[in-house]
Amino acid sequence: MSAGLSSQVSRDYQLTLTNFLERARRFFPRQEIVSRGAQGISRYNYRQFYRRVCRLDNALSALGIGQGDRVGSFAWNTHRHLELYFGLPCMGAVMHTVNIRLSPEQIAYVINHAQDKLLFIDEDLVPAIEQVAAKLPGVQRYVIMCEGELPPTSLAPVCSYEELLAEAPENYDFPQLDEGLPAGLAYTSGTTGDPKGVIYTHRMLFLHSFALALAGGFGISEADTTMALVPMFHANAWGIPYTSTMVGAKQVLPGPHPQPEEIAGLIQTERVSFAAGVPTVWIGLLQFLEQQNYDLSSLQQIVCGGSAVPLSLIKAYRDKLGLQIHQAWGMTEMSPAGSVGTLKRSMSDWPAEQQLAQQAKQGLLLPGLEMRVLDESGCEVPWDGETSGELLVRGPWVAREYYRDPEASAQRFAGGWLRTGDVVTVDRESYLQIVDRTKDLVKSGGEWISSVALENALMAHPQVLEAAVIAVPDERWSERPLAYVVLKPDQQLSAEELLGSITAQFPKFWLPDEVTFIDELPKTGVGKFNKRALRQLAQQRPRR
Ligand code: ADP
Repeated sequence: MSAGLSSQVSRDYQLTLTNFLERARRFFPRQEIVSRGAQGISRYNYRQFYRRVCRLDNALSALGIGQGDRVGSFAWNTHRHLELYFGLPCMGAVMHTVNIRLSPEQIAYVINHAQDKLLFIDEDLVPAIEQVAAKLPGVQRYVIMCEGELPPTSLAPVCSYEELLAEAPENYDFPQLDEGLPAGLAYTSGTTGDPKGVIYTHRMLFLHSFALALAGGFGISEADTTMALVPMFHANAWGIPYTSTMVGAKQVLPGPHPQPEEIAGLIQTERVSFAAGVPTVWIGLLQFLEQQNYDLSSLQQIVCGGSAVPLSLIKAYRDKLGLQIHQAWGMTEMSPAGSVGTLKRSMSDWPAEQQLAQQAKQGLLLPGLEMRVLDESGCEVPWDGETSGELLVRGPWVAREYYRDPEASAQRFAGGWLRTGDVVTVDRESYLQIVDRTKDLVKSGGEWISSVALENALMAHPQVLEAAVIAVPDERWSERPLAYVVLKPDQQLSAEELLGSITAQFPKFWLPDEVTFIDELPKTGVGKFNKRALRQLAQQRPRR
């Protein structure tokens, strides 16, 4: 066989999620999937999971869903959501995970922009969709994922997920798919304007899962019991559902609003060995465990990311609970995993405090990815742990563009590279550390708040001349918005009155915790609000 022919053969094999689904059924039929719902814990295994995915795909076909169609989910981490995670892509459709934390306007925007034909909704989230349903002309049907009877609802036409499955046949022939086909779609907050869509192809999710399963990634294997505390409606729950299914791990899906008590309970009773979530989750759990006794001895690894992980948190888990936190950095545009902060073996004899400082960095880029760090003139900065620049990345699971948004794509993607908007240093060991952000967003409890949207709303107040919103560090939420406001001459206005005027436009967690009135906003040379100067100003303010 000539070299040319053999490379052709290897390229013919398509890297699709159907491979993971079939493998889980054949190799790990009895491995459990545990799901916490409104009515308590339910459990089944990969064999039963597979059958329900087949039923789902028959039902979707009967509803007219075909290759390339987008279908939305509005749901927590549950077994039904996991069925959609595989059922939709493996029949050739596209799984659009709608972020339940978006504002009503943004929810309507992303569903319409994606042109979702169907919407699968968790029972307790139905009211949020009812609120915007009149603005969703393209949605042909709503499917409610409830345990029993359909709840009363104004959504129409509507049906129950379980009824759909019950009426559908159990055998389904999965189509041969091209690895370049879209499998998933998620929206991320842009610096300005509307959320931006990111398409994940089968190939991207396939290779991303391989990288995560590596020991230097999340190191997930069949021996693990994984629990994604990062929501399945945000950045593919960091890819944990796909990777866990690929390797045949036991999965624990923590359901609606998991609180520290439920999290600790699930770790203890299900013997969770791997869990991942944003710092806010781990801070809350730590506080809870200071009052309560739970057996967390099964836990081997905690992955924490989405926002900078405080060194004090890593230290507290190490010293108080004997647990290892690994920091992960990523972005929706990267499927989402980018780097993990595990230590190199040469660091094993470092003093404990130096190890800790290294673990508080965002870590080493995953195999398969490439990075560059550029200064303002576009030159690469030295990897000396001091010089900072903007991080650019590329690789097999990094998006090349935003979905149907050439303008935003042109701003963030160039020559195959993604401009992350994260300002980093890279040390001599090649570990990344995020030191600042060029994107004008606040990340609170793992979810984005648009400073630009808040500024526009504040500046719409008749007594306000200028307003700028910046992110300030917060112990519990990682970051919170702080507003600097300049009033028009001779005006009097309290922070309460000002915030009261914008409350109706935003989710409650978006509202700035503090409003500081000042005489003038610092500006850059081109007249923009100088947020770097404002961040310095904020550092000097008295602690509340
Ligand atoms: P996710 O929340 O899954 O990380 P998003 O796309 O919502 O994905 O957010 C990506 C951005 O979040 C990054 O560009 C970075 O600014 C921030 N981020 C993610 N992980 C970390 C981390 N470990 N430390 C600091 N910032 C982080």
